[in-house]
This record gives sequence, structure tokens and C-alpha cells, in this order.
Amino acid sequence: MHPRLLREVKSVRVLMGLVVLQGVLSGLLIIYQAYDLADIINRVYIGHEHLSQVQYLLGNLLAVIGLRALLTLFGESGALSLATRIQSRLRLRLSKRILNAGPLYINREHAGELVNTLTKGVEDLEPYLARYIPQVAITALVPTIILIDALVKDWITGVILLVTLPLIPFFMILIGRQAESKTQKQWQLLSRLSAHFLDILQGLTTLKLMGQSVQQAHGIERASDEFRRATMSSLRIAFLSALVLELLASLSMAMVAVAIGLRLISGLMAFRTAFFLLVLVPEFYIPWRALGTRFHDGLGGMEAVKRIFQILDAPQPITAFGTRKLSNLEYSLKFENVGFTYEGRESPAVEGMTACLHAHERIAIVGPTGSGKTTVLSLLMGFAHPTTGLIRLGEVPFDDLDIEWWRTQVSFLTQNPYIFSGTLRDNLLMAKADATDEELKAALDMSGAMEFVRHLPQGIDSPVGERGRGLSGGQKQRLALARAFLKDVSIVLMDEPTANLDAQTEALLWKDLEKLLTGRTALVVAHRLSTARRLDRIWVMNQGHLVQEGTARELESVSGLYRELSEAYRAPGKEGEGLYAALSGHAETL
Ligand code: ADP
Ligand code: MG
Repeated sequence: MHPRLLREVKSVRVLMGLVVLQGVLSGLLIIYQAYDLADIINRVYIGHEHLSQVQYLLGNLLAVIGLRALLTLFGESGALSLATRIQSRLRLRLSKRILNAGPLYINREHAGELVNTLTKGVEDLEPYLARYIPQVAITALVPTIILIDALVKDWITGVILLVTLPLIPFFMILIGRQAESKTQKQWQLLSRLSAHFLDILQGLTTLKLMGQSVQQAHGIERASDEFRRATMSSLRIAFLSALVLELLASLSMAMVAVAIGLRLISGLMAFRTAFFLLVLVPEFYIPWRALGTRFHDGLGGMEAVKRIFQILDAPQPITAFGTRKLSNLEYSLKFENVGFTYEGRESPAVEGMTACLHAHERIAIVGPTGSGKTTVLSLLMGFAHPTTGLIRLGEVPFDDLDIEWWRTQVSFLTQNPYIFSGTLRDNLLMAKADATDEELKAALDMSGAMEFVRHLPQGIDSPVGERGRGLSGGQKQRLALARAFLKDVSIVLMDEPTANLDAQTEALLWKDLEKLLTGRTALVVAHRLSTARRLDRIWVMNQGHLVQEGTARELESVSGLYRELSEAYRAPGKEGEGLYAALSGHAETL
């Protein structure tokens, strides 16, 4: 068993103990049942006693059967509740873990694969925990008890059992090895399939646009066919294993039966003992056969466990934060030689950045695509931790801050605001759970969202689809802005909030965005120079470095990247486009 899962199982050891005890008790009852049955038949058939004389034995038999049914019932529900407990705990820890890791982690991992692990993976643990693990203990105990009993009653039968026994685990291990690698492949295929499918769903617009949707459908078909084949081949192994176990058990039982029969005929053995052993011997093999089947049922879980703990044990990208909270935020944000390199990348996304954002100052960041602007904001949100250098809030290093608290103090507007499925009200209340209707209305007014909310049939209680289906880009952005107004905190970060909008919508939205900036400390990754010029100062970034900083006027008066950008911006035909496509040597957009 995976050592980490073992620790989980230990936390429910009482329950696990009871489940195993139930199995062992059932085993003992089986022995008694065989004994009782042999006794009854012996007395009635050989001893010619009347049925009424063995009435109490018949009663016992019934009681034992009833008791075994009860034990099975308790065992089953115990095993299931044991599995459910571990499963829900793991599910909770996985989702917490993924939430804590933040958006940068999710980008790296395939979202579909994560979903697969969290749902199917955790689900697969049930047969493993509830069936396979208790069965291992039961198989270790019950056949041993039966074996001892058989040895005592008739040593020849005992020896036959003892000799045939090792064959079963031997074949089980042989076949199990095969099955394991097949299941591994099956799991990988399923993960890939989920990831692929999610990708396709999310990129459906692009695929349609590129005329690729049919091709992708074929891709899915191929992948699912591959999955089908992997499933069939692991099923084949499971069947093969069942066949081998049945065969071995039958052959062994036949050997016992022949040995008993011969001695019975020649009068070397009493009928009662012979009958008792014949009833008992199949029970010796049943736990082994059950173990075989349950092993194959539980294989999926064993595979999932590896992935689950891989996620849980992956190094936490953002653990290095403290617990400090500040009572006011009238401090400047200082970058001291900050650098950050994404995992798996060689060159840093941000390097040697030293800068200061004063309280109540509004700074624009401009620079070509890939120059590290978004990364700077991610560092400020605590989604990533600087690989070198330090960010300070006033004098307090970021590392000491309670990052959860810090995030509640910052409004962050991104290119693609996320609107959850639910009502508009639900989405707004995320920013402030106890907001009154007046506050909601005020926020909608300020953000300009009221314009369209007013026309919706159910107003603020209108439902929206996942990712804001049914809303335009501008409307989603206004809702995000309304959330920011509701949140009403003194620090605002924006990452090209108007990048996906047409020029007209952008101009209108910008007016409302500016309202949010007044009186607040802000860092705005600007999509257009015209936007950047309206703010107090500008940071110009290029290839991860802060190459220039100053007011628009200052930057205009010296030669450098800013002037290059600005000249390209003013080139004929490019006015107001906000694009830097004309600028060779630098990436396309700002
Ligand atoms: P900008 O916002 O200025 O366009 P980014 O900060 O998004 O630039 O990216 C800076 C650099 O870091 C780019 O080279 C980009 O490829 C890389 N990068 C951004 N996000 C990730 C990520 N999640 N994983 C790996 N590399 C990334
Ligand atoms: Mg960016």
C-alpha cells in the first residue's frame, strides 16, 4: 500500500479493525456451520435419528446463517463508511491544495487531468479501500484458521491444502503484475482523454473558426478507442485471473475429495469428519478467490492513489508567506531587485526589478507581449513567490504578510473576468457577502453595469451561464468592475482589462475604470499608450526588465523603448489602434 494512504487508513483503524473482525467472525461461523451441518446429516442419515431430535442443531444452523447475514451487513456498511471518510478527506485536501496553489499552478497542470483525479480518481479509491484492503487481512486470517482446523481433524487434508495454497498467490502475483501495468496505461489514457476533452470544450470557438472541430472529433474518437482497447485488455486479464483461481481451487478441492472418498470407502474415515471437511474445504479457497477479484476491482484505486499524493506532495509554490496583517495600507509597495523564473523555464520572466509604487499613486506598466507585466501582477497578488529579491509593503516584507488577508485588500481586474454560473447577484456578493441592495445598486451604477442589468427581465437576479455565458465581453468587465467597487479597497491592480474589447466599448469602459482609480493606489498594465498617459507615472518593461520609468512627458523627451512605442503608435493608420504590430523587433501587442 502507498505509505501515505496507509497513514490515512491508520486514522480509521478502529473501523478497519471492526471490518476485519467481522470477516474473521464470519470465517469462524463458517467452520461452525460446516460442523453443525455435518453433525445433523450424520445423525439423521447414518444414525437414523428423528428430525425432532436434532431440532436444536437445525435451530443453531438457522441462527448462524442469520448471524452471518447480519455480520455481512455491518461489514459492508462499515467498509463503505470507512472508504467514504478517507475519500471525502482526500477530496477536501486535494481541492484545498489546488486552491492554495493558485492560478499559476493550474496553468501548468492540465485542468482536465486534475478534474479526473479529483472525481474519478477519488471515486476509484472506494473498491480499493472498502473491498480490497479488508479482504487482504481476511484472507490472511480465515484460511489459516480453517487450515489449522483441517490439520487437527485430518492431517492428510491439511497437507493437501498446505501444498496447493502457495500456487494461488504465485499465480495472483504473476497475473497482478500484468494487470497493474495495463491499469496504469488505462488511467493515463483516461486522464489524457479528460484533459483533451476539456481543452476542446474551452477552445470550441477557436476550433470552429479554424474549421478544426471535425478533426478534433476524430481525435477524441481515436483516443476513446484507445481507451476502450486498454479497458478490454485489463478486463481480459481480470477474467484470466478469475479462471486461473477457479481452476486451481477446483483442482485442489478435487484432490481433497478423492483422498477423503478413498478413505471413506475403505472405512478409514468417519462419515461425519469426511462430510465436515468436504463442506469446509471450498470455504478455504473462497477468500483467495475474493482477493483475486477485489484486487482487480481495486487496481484503479491503486493507480489513482499515486496521482493523488503526487498532487498533495508537490512542492507548494506559495507557502513562504507569514501571518502579519496591517491595520492600514497607506504604504508604498517596493520592489527590491525582484526576479522570478517560472518552473521549467530557463530565462527569468522578471529580473532585477527595483521600483516603488507610492501610496495613492497610479502607475501604468507598458511593454511588448511577454515582457513580464502580468508576472509582476502575479507576484503582487502572491500567486507566485519571487525567486530572487523582495517585495515590501512599507517596511514589511511580503513574505511576512498573511497572503489571504492581503488578497482581500486588493482588487484585481484581468483581461477575462470570471463570471460564475448563478445569478448576477451571486456574482456580485462574492466581493462583499453582506452587501445591501442599495450598495449593489450603487456599485452597478458606478461601473455602468446598470445600463444593461436594468434591461434584463429579472434584473440583478437574472441567471448567467458558466463563464458568463449570455454576457458580452464589455458587460462581463463591467460586472467585474462592479465587484471591485463593492470590494472598495485601496489597492487596485489591472491587467489589460480592455484588451479584448472593441475601441468604442473600451473608451466607454475606461471612463468607469478611471472612477475606480481615483484616490486609490493602482498598478495598471495598459493596453494603449493613451491609457498609460493618463496615469501618474509609467513603467516601461522589456524582456523582464524595467527599462524606463517616469511621467509620459519625461519618457517622451528621451530616446528609448517608450519613444519607439509612441512613434509606432502615432504612425499613419495606426492611430488609436493600440497595436504595436508595426513595430518590428518588438512583439505584436502591448
Ligand atoms: P506579459 O504580461 O508582459 O505579456 P507575462 O508576464 O505573461 O508577459 O510573461 C512573461 C514571460 O513569462 C513570457 O516569456 C511567458 O512566456 C512566460 N510565462 C508567463 N506565464 C507563464 C507560465 N504560467 N508558465 C511558464 N512561463 C510563463
Ligand atoms: Mg500579460
